[in-house]
Amino acid sequence: MATEFIAEPDLQFTKDLIKAGGADVKKCFQCATCSVACAIAPDNSPFPRKEMIWAQWGLKDRLMSDPDVWLCHQCNDCSTLCPRGAYPGDLLKAVRKMHIQNNSWPSFLGSLVGEPALFVLTLGIPVVIVLLLVYFSNGFNFSGPSPIDYGAFIPYIAIQIIYTLTLVFAVVSLLISLKRYWNSLGSNNVIEIRGHGRGFIPSFIEALKEILPHTTFKECAANNIRYAAHLLTFWGMIGLLVTTAIVAFNIDILHLKPPSQNGPGTVPIKILGNVSAIAFVVGLAIMVIRRLTVPDQAGRSSYFDWFFLFVICGTGLTGVLTQLIRWAGSVPGTYFLYMIHLMFVLTLLLYLPFSKFAHLGYRTVAIAWGKSYGRNMTVPTAPNYAPAHPSAEEPTEKG
Ligand code: SF4
Ligand code: SF4
Repeated sequence: MATEFIAEPDLQFTKDLIKAGGADVKKCFQCATCSVACAIAPDNSPFPRKEMIWAQWGLKDRLMSDPDVWLCHQCNDCSTLCPRGAYPGDLLKAVRKMHIQNNSWPSFLGSLVGEPALFVLTLGIPVVIVLLLVYFSNGFNFSGPSPIDYGAFIPYIAIQIIYTLTLVFAVVSLLISLKRYWNSLGSNNVIEIRGHGRGFIPSFIEALKEILPHTTFKECAANNIRYAAHLLTFWGMIGLLVTTAIVAFNIDILHLKPPSQNGPGTVPIKILGNVSAIAFVVGLAIMVIRRLTVPDQAGRSSYFDWFFLFVICGTGLTGVLTQLIRWAGSVPGTYFLYMIHLMFVLTLLLYLPFSKFAHLGYRTVAIAWGKSYGRNMTVPTAPNYAPAHPSAEEPTEKG
């Protein structure tokens, strides 16, 4: 039986969405081509048509508690086929950005990272921290020691303290933000929950089984180069994280020499690090080139996208260049690039919960939430997920 629904439009929210990247949302005339075109939208309550009308009507509560925007992989088939040029793929991206900003803890960092006018301040914080670190370690002396010894250039203990504290802050902040988002998902009253969902842990494991091989991403067949690029970047990044963890364990716990000094057993670590770095950089290069050359397929890029790509590309490139210039024998060049690399790594860690990097966590939570209530992307007719209020598709204005 239909339930009465009274729409409470938040027009400022619609303006915020337009500013965040959904510039053409008002062109939509609800033909539903986009939902039909999307290869991964389920039959029940498909996206992105419903998000378009929620955005036009300023239904903030619905969009801010919508798990579906994270099921979208931005293939842009829907935007390409939209007869009105409303770019539904970009609207979903704008909503995802607002999820990250609205759930951020502390909230001012969410606002800082998303604001182009604050770019210099955003970048300035980690840059100044690393400059102070270098100044107090060696007074900006890039000419030695030779041969290269990063631990003598900046003491490892100083790096461990600053980067470990930053990482702990980022993880705690991200967990708080994701918990807020998880709690909000249950308040989306378009999604009827029949019976109790599964617990978080089994749902989380199911979600990982889908995310690690990018199973659903592969369904976006019309734009599968994006799937390949994302897979390379994703596994390259995991390889680099594993490499960093092994190196830190060897130095801190086993007190072995770092790989840069050719300590015992470092060849496999170097191979893992180098192969991961190549996968990471190649995947990123494909993404950037596509954004610049085929924006209709890759989606129109916002400052939020470019900030993330700038930081992640900077991290990967400075890491690779540091290694290359060290092989070339330039001591000052190696230390200088190492310092720049440290700046990028600190930026990445510090803003992890507030930049597009947080999509790893939000997408996982949204998929896990869907799994817990039977919204299975590979079986679109899942019985536990259905619009609770058909009248919500035709909202009536309050008053
Ligand atoms: S976004 Fe475009 S394709 Fe989708 S319902 Fe609106 S007009 Fe139709
Ligand atoms: S961008 Fe691709 S995955 Fe996202 S809604 Fe459009 S068609 Fe579906």
